[in-house]
Amino acid sequence: MPGPDRFSALAAEGVLGLQPYVPGKPVAELEREYGIRDSIKLASNENPLGPPPASIRAISEALDDLALYPDGAAFELKNALARRLAVDPVRITVGNGSNELLSLVAETFLTPATEAIYSQFAFLIYALSVQATGAVARVAAANVADHPQPLGHDLDAMRKLVTPATRLVFIANPNNPTGTWLGAAELRAFIGGLPSHVLVLLDEAYGEYVAGADWPDALRWLDEFPNLIVTRTFSKMYALAGLRVGYAISHPQVAELLNRVRQPFNVNSLAQVAARAALDDAGHVMRSRQLNAQGLTQLSEGLGALGWRVSPSAGNFVLVDTGGPAQPWYEKLLRTGVIVRPVANYGLPDHLRITVGLPEQNERLLSALRSLRAGKAEQA
Ligand SMILES: *Cc1c(COP(=O)(O)O)cnc(C)c1O
Repeated sequence: MPGPDRFSALAAEGVLGLQPYVPGKPVAELEREYGIRDSIKLASNENPLGPPPASIRAISEALDDLALYPDGAAFELKNALARRLAVDPVRITVGNGSNELLSLVAETFLTPATEAIYSQFAFLIYALSVQATGAVARVAAANVADHPQPLGHDLDAMRKLVTPATRLVFIANPNNPTGTWLGAAELRAFIGGLPSHVLVLLDEAYGEYVAGADWPDALRWLDEFPNLIVTRTFSKMYALAGLRVGYAISHPQVAELLNRVRQPFNVNSLAQVAARAALDDAGHVMRSRQLNAQGLTQLSEGLGALGWRVSPSAGNFVLVDTGGPAQPWYEKLLRTGVIVRPVANYGLPDHLRITVGLPEQNERLLSALRSLRAGKAEQA
Protein backbone atom coordinates (compact mmCIF):
# COMPACT_ATOMS: atom_id res chain seq x y z
CA MET A 1 0.00 0.00 0.00
CA PRO A 2 2.54 2.67 -1.09
CA GLY A 3 0.99 6.19 -1.28
CA PRO A 4 2.84 9.34 -0.28
CA ASP A 5 6.08 8.79 1.63
CA ARG A 6 5.23 9.88 5.16
CA PHE A 7 7.91 8.26 7.20
CA SER A 8 11.27 8.52 5.44
CA ALA A 9 11.82 11.99 6.86
CA LEU A 10 11.32 10.52 10.30
CA ALA A 11 13.73 7.57 9.91
CA ALA A 12 17.30 7.54 11.17
CA GLU A 13 19.63 8.85 8.48
CA GLY A 14 21.60 5.60 8.20
CA VAL A 15 18.43 3.69 7.42
CA LEU A 16 17.55 5.73 4.33
CA GLY A 17 20.59 4.52 2.37
CA LEU A 18 19.98 0.87 3.19
CA GLN A 19 18.95 -1.69 0.59
CA PRO A 20 17.38 -4.79 2.13
CA TYR A 21 19.51 -7.94 2.02
CA VAL A 22 18.34 -10.26 -0.76
CA PRO A 23 18.52 -13.88 0.42
CA GLY A 24 18.75 -16.93 -1.84
CA LYS A 25 15.41 -17.87 -3.38
CA PRO A 26 13.59 -20.46 -1.24
CA VAL A 27 12.63 -23.72 -2.98
CA ALA A 28 8.93 -23.28 -2.06
CA GLU A 29 8.87 -19.82 -3.69
CA LEU A 30 10.41 -21.08 -6.94
CA GLU A 31 7.96 -23.97 -7.10
CA ARG A 32 5.00 -21.64 -6.45
CA GLU A 33 6.10 -19.14 -9.09
CA TYR A 34 7.10 -21.60 -11.82
CA GLY A 35 4.69 -24.43 -11.08
CA ILE A 36 7.51 -26.97 -10.93
CA ARG A 37 8.56 -29.65 -8.44
CA ASP A 38 11.70 -31.40 -7.21
CA SER A 39 13.78 -28.24 -7.27
CA ILE A 40 17.12 -27.96 -5.53
CA LYS A 41 18.70 -24.96 -3.85
CA LEU A 42 22.44 -24.41 -4.14
CA ALA A 43 22.14 -20.76 -3.21
CA SER A 44 22.61 -20.10 0.51
CA ASN A 45 25.62 -22.18 1.54
CA GLU A 46 23.47 -24.55 3.55
CA ASN A 47 24.79 -27.99 4.48
CA PRO A 48 23.17 -30.57 2.15
CA LEU A 49 23.54 -33.34 4.76
CA GLY A 50 20.94 -31.69 6.96
CA PRO A 51 21.18 -31.15 10.71
CA PRO A 52 23.21 -33.42 13.00
CA PRO A 53 21.00 -36.27 14.32
CA ALA A 54 22.09 -35.38 17.86
CA SER A 55 20.56 -31.91 17.43
CA ILE A 56 17.23 -33.31 16.30
CA ARG A 57 17.11 -35.56 19.37
CA ALA A 58 17.97 -32.64 21.66
CA ILE A 59 15.20 -30.54 20.12
CA SER A 60 12.60 -33.29 20.61
CA GLU A 61 13.54 -33.53 24.25
CA ALA A 62 13.31 -29.76 24.76
CA LEU A 63 9.86 -29.35 23.20
CA ASP A 64 8.05 -29.83 26.50
CA ASP A 65 9.67 -26.68 27.89
CA LEU A 66 8.57 -24.27 25.16
CA ALA A 67 6.37 -22.36 27.60
CA LEU A 68 9.50 -21.20 29.40
CA TYR A 69 11.81 -18.39 28.35
CA PRO A 70 15.19 -19.57 27.13
CA ASP A 71 18.25 -19.24 29.35
CA GLY A 72 19.21 -15.65 28.56
CA ALA A 73 22.79 -16.37 29.63
CA ALA A 74 22.98 -19.53 27.46
CA PHE A 75 24.96 -21.12 30.29
CA GLU A 76 25.13 -24.68 28.95
CA LEU A 77 25.93 -23.67 25.39
CA LYS A 78 28.58 -21.15 26.39
CA ASN A 79 30.25 -23.63 28.72
CA ALA A 80 30.25 -26.34 26.08
CA LEU A 81 31.76 -23.89 23.59
CA ALA A 82 34.32 -22.75 26.14
CA ARG A 83 35.48 -26.33 26.74
CA ARG A 84 35.55 -27.13 23.04
CA LEU A 85 37.46 -23.97 22.10
CA ALA A 86 39.61 -23.83 25.24
CA VAL A 87 38.59 -20.25 26.04
CA ASP A 88 37.05 -18.69 29.14
CA PRO A 89 33.22 -18.59 28.90
CA VAL A 90 33.24 -14.88 29.81
CA ARG A 91 34.70 -14.27 26.36
CA ILE A 92 31.66 -15.73 24.59
CA THR A 93 28.57 -13.87 23.33
CA VAL A 94 25.82 -15.85 21.61
CA GLY A 95 23.75 -14.38 18.80
CA ASN A 96 20.67 -14.99 16.69
CA GLY A 97 22.93 -16.24 13.93
CA SER A 98 26.35 -14.65 13.65
CA ASN A 99 24.60 -11.97 11.57
CA GLU A 100 23.18 -10.58 14.77
CA LEU A 101 26.65 -10.39 16.27
CA LEU A 102 27.91 -8.41 13.29
CA SER A 103 25.20 -5.80 13.88
CA LEU A 104 25.68 -5.91 17.65
CA VAL A 105 29.36 -5.13 17.31
CA ALA A 106 28.57 -2.33 14.86
CA GLU A 107 25.88 -0.86 17.14
CA THR A 108 28.17 -1.08 20.14
CA PHE A 109 31.20 0.62 18.63
CA LEU A 110 30.08 2.75 15.69
CA THR A 111 28.49 6.20 15.61
CA PRO A 112 28.11 8.76 12.80
CA ALA A 113 31.41 10.27 13.99
CA THR A 114 33.40 7.07 13.42
CA GLU A 115 34.55 4.91 10.51
CA ALA A 116 34.60 1.22 9.65
CA ILE A 117 36.70 -0.60 7.05
CA TYR A 118 35.90 -3.62 4.94
CA SER A 119 36.95 -4.98 1.57
CA GLN A 120 35.18 -4.64 -1.74
CA PHE A 121 33.32 -7.95 -2.36
CA ALA A 122 33.24 -8.71 1.38
CA PHE A 123 30.11 -10.25 2.92
CA LEU A 124 27.28 -7.72 2.34
CA ILE A 125 26.08 -7.66 5.92
CA TYR A 126 29.16 -5.61 6.89
CA ALA A 127 28.03 -2.75 4.67
CA LEU A 128 24.46 -2.98 5.98
CA SER A 129 25.54 -3.09 9.64
CA VAL A 130 27.82 -0.10 9.24
CA GLN A 131 25.32 1.95 7.29
CA ALA A 132 22.55 1.41 9.81
CA THR A 133 24.71 3.10 12.48
CA GLY A 134 25.42 6.15 10.28
CA ALA A 135 29.18 5.53 10.52
CA VAL A 136 31.40 6.19 7.50
CA ALA A 137 32.21 3.06 5.48
CA ARG A 138 35.68 2.93 3.98
CA VAL A 139 35.85 0.22 1.36
CA ALA A 140 39.26 -1.13 0.33
CA ALA A 141 39.80 -2.23 -3.27
CA ALA A 142 39.99 -6.02 -3.49
CA ASN A 143 42.68 -8.18 -5.07
CA VAL A 144 42.61 -8.16 -8.86
CA ALA A 145 40.97 -11.03 -10.77
CA ASP A 146 44.26 -12.78 -11.64
CA HIS A 147 45.65 -12.63 -8.09
CA PRO A 148 46.08 -16.10 -6.49
CA GLN A 149 43.18 -15.07 -4.19
CA PRO A 150 41.03 -13.41 -6.88
CA LEU A 151 38.80 -10.57 -5.60
CA GLY A 152 39.87 -11.40 -2.02
CA HIS A 153 40.80 -9.00 0.78
CA ASP A 154 43.91 -6.86 0.16
CA LEU A 155 45.14 -6.27 3.71
CA ASP A 156 47.62 -3.57 2.66
CA ALA A 157 44.83 -1.62 1.00
CA MET A 158 42.73 -2.04 4.13
CA ARG A 159 45.51 -0.89 6.44
CA LYS A 160 45.92 2.33 4.42
CA LEU A 161 42.34 3.31 5.24
CA VAL A 162 42.89 3.38 9.01
CA THR A 163 42.44 6.86 10.53
CA PRO A 164 42.00 8.18 14.08
CA ALA A 165 38.22 7.80 13.53
CA THR A 166 38.39 4.08 12.64
CA ARG A 167 36.73 1.83 15.22
CA LEU A 168 36.10 -1.40 13.37
CA VAL A 169 37.63 -3.51 10.59
CA PHE A 170 35.66 -6.44 9.18
CA ILE A 171 37.54 -9.44 7.79
CA ALA A 172 35.89 -12.58 6.46
CA ASN A 173 38.18 -15.60 6.47
CA PRO A 174 37.20 -17.30 4.23
CA ASN A 175 35.15 -14.62 2.52
CA ASN A 176 31.69 -15.06 1.05
CA PRO A 177 31.02 -14.74 -1.92
CA THR A 178 34.63 -14.95 -3.19
CA GLY A 179 35.71 -18.10 -1.31
CA THR A 180 39.12 -16.48 -0.78
CA TRP A 181 41.11 -16.81 2.42
CA LEU A 182 44.04 -15.28 4.32
CA GLY A 183 47.02 -17.14 5.75
CA ALA A 184 48.12 -17.00 9.38
CA ALA A 185 51.24 -14.88 8.93
CA GLU A 186 49.67 -12.05 6.91
CA LEU A 187 46.56 -11.92 9.07
CA ARG A 188 48.56 -11.88 12.29
CA ALA A 189 50.81 -9.11 11.00
CA PHE A 190 47.78 -7.06 9.94
CA ILE A 191 46.01 -7.32 13.31
CA GLY A 192 49.25 -6.71 15.21
CA GLY A 193 49.87 -3.54 13.19
CA LEU A 194 46.56 -1.87 14.05
CA PRO A 195 46.37 0.95 16.58
CA SER A 196 44.58 0.13 19.85
CA HIS A 197 41.47 2.22 19.01
CA VAL A 198 40.59 -0.18 16.19
CA LEU A 199 38.68 -3.42 16.78
CA VAL A 200 38.91 -6.30 14.29
CA LEU A 201 35.90 -8.45 13.62
CA LEU A 202 37.22 -11.69 12.14
CA ASP A 203 34.26 -13.54 10.63
CA GLU A 204 34.96 -17.28 10.53
CA ALA A 205 31.52 -18.47 9.38
CA TYR A 206 33.24 -21.07 7.15
CA GLY A 207 36.21 -21.72 9.44
CA GLU A 208 35.25 -25.34 10.06
CA TYR A 209 35.50 -26.08 6.34
CA VAL A 210 39.06 -24.91 5.93
CA ALA A 211 41.35 -27.88 5.67
CA GLY A 212 44.68 -26.21 4.85
CA ALA A 213 47.58 -26.30 7.28
CA ASP A 214 48.02 -22.52 7.10
CA TRP A 215 44.59 -21.91 8.67
CA PRO A 216 45.15 -19.43 11.51
CA ASP A 217 43.80 -20.49 14.87
CA ALA A 218 42.86 -16.92 15.69
CA LEU A 219 41.52 -17.86 19.12
CA ARG A 220 45.11 -18.36 20.23
CA TRP A 221 45.74 -14.66 19.50
CA LEU A 222 43.07 -13.31 21.85
CA ASP A 223 45.46 -12.63 24.75
CA GLU A 224 47.95 -10.91 22.53
CA PHE A 225 45.35 -8.87 20.61
CA PRO A 226 42.65 -7.64 23.01
CA ASN A 227 40.99 -5.80 20.10
CA LEU A 228 40.23 -9.07 18.24
CA ILE A 229 36.64 -10.37 17.98
CA VAL A 230 36.12 -13.74 16.26
CA THR A 231 32.61 -14.73 15.11
CA ARG A 232 31.44 -18.22 14.15
CA THR A 233 28.12 -19.84 13.37
CA PHE A 234 26.10 -23.03 13.62
CA SER A 235 24.47 -22.22 10.26
CA LYS A 236 27.07 -23.60 7.88
CA MET A 237 29.09 -26.69 8.85
CA TYR A 238 26.75 -27.48 11.74
CA ALA A 239 23.71 -27.27 9.46
CA LEU A 240 21.40 -25.36 11.81
CA ALA A 241 20.77 -22.25 9.67
CA GLY A 242 17.02 -22.36 10.33
CA LEU A 243 17.51 -22.08 14.08
CA ARG A 244 19.68 -18.94 13.99
CA VAL A 245 22.60 -19.38 16.36
CA GLY A 246 26.14 -18.06 16.24
CA TYR A 247 28.73 -16.80 18.70
CA ALA A 248 31.53 -14.30 19.19
CA ILE A 249 34.74 -14.79 21.15
CA SER A 250 36.35 -11.59 22.34
CA HIS A 251 38.00 -9.80 25.23
CA PRO A 252 35.71 -10.18 28.29
CA GLN A 253 35.17 -6.40 28.42
CA VAL A 254 34.03 -6.39 24.81
CA ALA A 255 31.69 -9.29 25.61
CA GLU A 256 30.34 -7.31 28.54
CA LEU A 257 29.58 -4.31 26.30
CA LEU A 258 27.89 -6.49 23.66
CA ASN A 259 25.82 -8.04 26.42
CA ARG A 260 24.36 -4.61 27.27
CA VAL A 261 23.11 -4.11 23.71
CA ARG A 262 21.99 -7.70 23.12
CA GLN A 263 18.32 -8.59 23.57
CA PRO A 264 17.98 -10.70 26.71
CA PHE A 265 16.53 -13.79 24.96
CA ASN A 266 18.16 -13.48 21.54
CA VAL A 267 18.85 -17.20 21.10
CA ASN A 268 15.81 -19.42 21.51
CA SER A 269 15.76 -22.55 23.65
CA LEU A 270 15.66 -25.06 20.78
CA ALA A 271 18.62 -23.39 19.12
CA GLN A 272 20.58 -23.54 22.36
CA VAL A 273 20.11 -27.27 22.92
CA ALA A 274 20.56 -28.13 19.23
CA ALA A 275 23.81 -26.18 19.02
CA ARG A 276 25.05 -27.72 22.24
CA ALA A 277 24.37 -31.22 20.86
CA ALA A 278 25.87 -30.44 17.45
CA LEU A 279 29.21 -29.64 19.06
CA ASP A 280 29.56 -33.25 20.16
CA ASP A 281 28.58 -34.76 16.82
CA ALA A 282 32.09 -35.16 15.45
CA GLY A 283 30.93 -37.69 12.86
CA HIS A 284 28.60 -35.18 11.24
CA VAL A 285 31.38 -32.63 10.97
CA MET A 286 33.71 -35.19 9.43
CA ARG A 287 31.11 -36.33 6.89
CA SER A 288 30.26 -32.73 6.00
CA ARG A 289 33.88 -31.79 5.48
CA GLN A 290 34.57 -34.81 3.31
CA LEU A 291 31.44 -34.34 1.21
CA ASN A 292 32.35 -30.69 0.73
CA ALA A 293 35.90 -31.44 -0.40
CA GLN A 294 34.60 -33.89 -3.02
CA GLY A 295 31.88 -31.47 -4.11
CA LEU A 296 34.34 -28.60 -4.54
CA THR A 297 36.40 -30.74 -6.89
CA GLN A 298 33.31 -31.94 -8.77
CA LEU A 299 32.00 -28.38 -9.26
CA SER A 300 35.36 -26.81 -10.09
CA GLU A 301 36.15 -29.47 -12.69
CA GLY A 302 32.63 -29.52 -14.13
CA LEU A 303 32.30 -25.76 -14.39
CA GLY A 304 35.87 -25.44 -15.65
CA ALA A 305 35.03 -27.92 -18.43
CA LEU A 306 32.29 -25.53 -19.55
CA GLY A 307 34.98 -22.91 -20.02
CA TRP A 308 33.99 -20.89 -16.96
CA ARG A 309 36.60 -19.64 -14.53
CA VAL A 310 36.16 -20.90 -10.98
CA SER A 311 38.00 -19.21 -8.11
CA PRO A 312 39.72 -21.43 -5.55
CA SER A 313 37.43 -21.69 -2.51
CA ALA A 314 37.98 -22.54 1.14
CA GLY A 315 34.24 -22.52 1.85
CA ASN A 316 31.27 -24.71 0.87
CA PHE A 317 30.57 -22.76 -2.32
CA VAL A 318 32.32 -21.58 -5.47
CA LEU A 319 32.31 -18.25 -7.24
CA VAL A 320 32.23 -18.76 -10.97
CA ASP A 321 32.92 -16.24 -13.70
CA THR A 322 30.33 -16.86 -16.42
CA GLY A 323 32.28 -14.78 -18.93
CA GLY A 324 29.34 -12.40 -19.49
CA PRO A 325 26.09 -11.41 -17.75
CA ALA A 326 25.23 -14.10 -15.21
CA GLN A 327 21.56 -13.20 -14.71
CA PRO A 328 20.33 -15.08 -17.83
CA TRP A 329 22.08 -18.25 -16.62
CA TYR A 330 20.51 -17.81 -13.20
CA GLU A 331 17.05 -17.50 -14.75
CA LYS A 332 17.51 -20.43 -17.13
CA LEU A 333 18.68 -22.60 -14.26
CA LEU A 334 15.59 -21.61 -12.25
CA ARG A 335 13.42 -22.97 -15.03
CA THR A 336 15.20 -26.33 -14.69
CA GLY A 337 14.53 -26.26 -10.94
CA VAL A 338 18.06 -25.37 -9.85
CA ILE A 339 18.52 -22.29 -7.64
CA VAL A 340 21.96 -20.67 -7.52
CA ARG A 341 22.91 -17.20 -6.36
CA PRO A 342 23.41 -14.18 -8.59
CA VAL A 343 25.88 -11.76 -7.02
CA ALA A 344 25.29 -8.55 -9.00
CA ASN A 345 24.39 -6.90 -5.67
CA TYR A 346 28.05 -7.48 -4.72
CA GLY A 347 29.17 -5.67 -7.87
CA LEU A 348 29.78 -9.02 -9.60
CA PRO A 349 27.20 -9.14 -12.45
CA ASP A 350 29.29 -11.68 -14.40
CA HIS A 351 29.49 -14.21 -11.59
CA LEU A 352 27.33 -16.79 -9.87
CA ARG A 353 27.86 -18.22 -6.42
CA ILE A 354 27.06 -21.93 -6.24
CA THR A 355 26.81 -23.89 -3.02
CA VAL A 356 28.27 -27.38 -2.88
CA GLY A 357 25.40 -29.86 -2.76
CA LEU A 358 25.17 -33.64 -2.65
CA PRO A 359 27.06 -35.31 -5.54
CA GLU A 360 23.81 -35.92 -7.45
CA GLN A 361 22.70 -32.30 -6.93
CA ASN A 362 26.04 -31.00 -8.21
CA GLU A 363 25.67 -33.28 -11.22
CA ARG A 364 22.14 -32.04 -11.84
CA LEU A 365 23.42 -28.46 -11.94
CA LEU A 366 26.29 -29.37 -14.24
CA SER A 367 24.15 -31.35 -16.63
CA ALA A 368 21.53 -28.56 -16.73
CA LEU A 369 24.30 -26.13 -17.64
CA ARG A 370 25.71 -28.49 -20.27
CA SER A 371 22.27 -28.74 -21.92
CA LEU A 372 21.70 -24.99 -21.73
CA ARG A 373 25.10 -24.33 -23.27
CA ALA A 374 24.51 -26.89 -26.02
CA GLY A 375 21.11 -25.27 -26.76
CA LYS A 376 22.75 -21.88 -26.99
CA ALA A 377 25.41 -23.19 -29.38
CA GLU A 378 22.70 -24.60 -31.67
CA GLN A 379 20.85 -21.30 -31.77
CA ALA A 380 24.04 -19.46 -32.73
C1 LIG B 1 26.50 -17.20 6.32
C2 LIG B 1 27.47 -16.19 6.81
C3 LIG B 1 27.41 -15.64 8.09
C4 LIG B 1 26.40 -15.87 9.11
O1 LIG B 1 25.34 -16.54 9.03
P1 LIG B 1 24.39 -16.73 10.28
O2 LIG B 1 23.43 -17.71 9.76
O3 LIG B 1 23.79 -15.42 10.62
O4 LIG B 1 25.23 -17.25 11.40
C5 LIG B 1 28.38 -14.76 8.48
N1 LIG B 1 29.38 -14.44 7.68
C6 LIG B 1 29.49 -14.93 6.45
C7 LIG B 1 30.65 -14.53 5.64
C8 LIG B 1 28.53 -15.81 5.96
O5 LIG B 1 28.62 -16.25 4.72
